[in-house]
Amino acid sequence: MSIATTTANADLAALIRTIPDYPKPGIQFRDVSTLLLDGPGFRAAIDRLAATIDPDQIDLIAGIEARGFIVAAALSYALTKGKLILRKPGKLPGASVGIDYQLEYGSDRLELHIGAVQPGQRILLVDDLIATGGTALAAIDLLRGQGAVVEQARFLVDLPDLGGAARLRAAGIACDALTCFAGD
Ligand code: AMP
Repeated sequence: MSIATTTANADLAALIRTIPDYPKPGIQFRDVSTLLLDGPGFRAAIDRLAATIDPDQIDLIAGIEARGFIVAAALSYALTKGKLILRKPGKLPGASVGIDYQLEYGSDRLELHIGAVQPGQRILLVDDLIATGGTALAAIDLLRGQGAVVEQARFLVDLPDLGGAARLRAAGIACDALTCFAGD
């Protein structure tokens, strides 16, 4: 199942601003802050994403800091599921476990509280956008390392040319996005 085609949800794709050459030349930054500014648009985005999820198939929703938190929190409310926060390093007050991962330039790290997820819990992973999939795959490794079952992921935006959604599917994740920007 995939709802991400270049014509799907064109009304919502039109609310996502593109900023060329940010943060560096050649990158088309897909800025979801303009979708967030639109009340009916954001509500429709969450409603349509929520409609792709069977609440009986998940126990918790995991959001990736920072824009992923916004989407995950709204989905958590819509689906009456708890939300697990995957944070950048050094932010969590309790005992945590983390994973380092490579970005195109440099590296980053995600952390979660030990005990936030119980072995066997089924997690829906959420972020604003999937590009290469490196961030999402690191999150999946981190969650699976704690015994979670991760089989679902949702995004507002997919950049299919960067291959992230395909990499997630190869890792056994049912991966959908609301909008799709091809050619990036
Ligand atoms: P990746 O790990 O390559 O899938 O990158 C995904 C993460 O980087 C997400 O948290 C996005 O917010 C951010 N990101 C990567 N590329 C873009 C882009 N072209 N526009 C906006 N955000 C991006």
